[in-house]
Amino acid sequence: MNVYLDNSATTRVYESACQKMMEVMTEDFGNPSALHTMGLAAEKRLRVARKEISKTFGSREDEVIFTSCGTESDNTAIYGAAHARKHEGREIITTKVEHPAVLEVFKKLSSEGFDVKYIGVDKQCNIDMQELKEAVTDNTTLISVMTVNNETGTIMPIREIKDICKNATLHTDAVQAMGKIDISATGADMISVSGHKIHGPKGIGALYVKKGTKLPPFVIGGGQESGMRSGTENMPGICGFAEAAKICRENFDQRTSQMKKVRKYLLDGICDTIEDVVINSPVDGCPSVLNVSFLGTRGEVILHTLEQDGIMVSTGSACSSGKKGRSHALTAMGLSDKEIEGAVRFSFSEFNTIEEMDYVIEKLSAAVKRFRKFGSFR
Ligand code: PLP
Repeated sequence: MNVYLDNSATTRVYESACQKMMEVMTEDFGNPSALHTMGLAAEKRLRVARKEISKTFGSREDEVIFTSCGTESDNTAIYGAAHARKHEGREIITTKVEHPAVLEVFKKLSSEGFDVKYIGVDKQCNIDMQELKEAVTDNTTLISVMTVNNETGTIMPIREIKDICKNATLHTDAVQAMGKIDISATGADMISVSGHKIHGPKGIGALYVKKGTKLPPFVIGGGQESGMRSGTENMPGICGFAEAAKICRENFDQRTSQMKKVRKYLLDGICDTIEDVVINSPVDGCPSVLNVSFLGTRGEVILHTLEQDGIMVSTGSACSSGKKGRSHALTAMGLSDKEIEGAVRFSFSEFNTIEEMDYVIEKLSAAVKRFRKFGSFR
């Protein structure tokens, strides 16, 4: 049996999203800026796609900028907003558990003279709201806090953060949140999302920028995307992304309840059959992620053992901390070396089933037992 449980790294593209992409590559392949009928047909598709993504944000259509990925959205928002307001203040805030697409930008800003504060989290990755409240001053110009953590699925209280952020521009990385929780009423000024996390294609992202937010263009040239992000639009990516967003939105309850059911079943199964585990995700976290430490094992070895049974999991965030190294998020959560070493991330989509979870529990419990008995056996 093949069981894909690495949906936080990337997802299978919906059939109908693939179809839309084919259509714009082979039929309506005009350049949306062209003045003839093929250009107009492409431009219409672009408008429809933008409208669809704006529904996810609960925003106006002209507040949506298409980018090349979640990383570009994060870079554009954070670097741009910090610099746009640097004459008002140089105090900027983020958390210790953000994706590198955010953390690396803060690091760069710090080297450019910005005063960066990194807010801590508890053992299940919940942000320390007291620390945040104390960190915000009248000179804070930018705050960036992720909506859902990619390693644990912890949901951050963006609405509450908006209420205490004073004059600061609030950005949230909702790459892991889109399609799993409602991101339409966070109150954030800028929101980053990415196509390949919601059964859309890779290489396409979007950034919501609330009207009036100070943000300079990031890629300059032909003036596409209202001058904010030049370059001929990635029409297959945009249309595939919008189709995936539509399916996610229209089937939201059904999809998320399937993920919740499967996640709870796996969690209960692990707790019932395997001893010495630590659950690193909140019980009521995002339905797509479950992070568990199997004490006395190595997550990486468990991953490769499960792989031989056709089960794909991850030890951290595959597209960030990468293949090796200690997870900065689990470290910031205050987990012990043993807990970090034995951590495995299971991440779900609506395609996962209870039958698959029975298979995973059986293989996982055997893998953990074998490791504990014999140590590393690869
Ligand atoms: N932000 C978070 C929270 C992520 O999990 C990821 C990817 O895993 C990204 C940003 C980067 O997105 P992309 O792969 O589209 O650049």
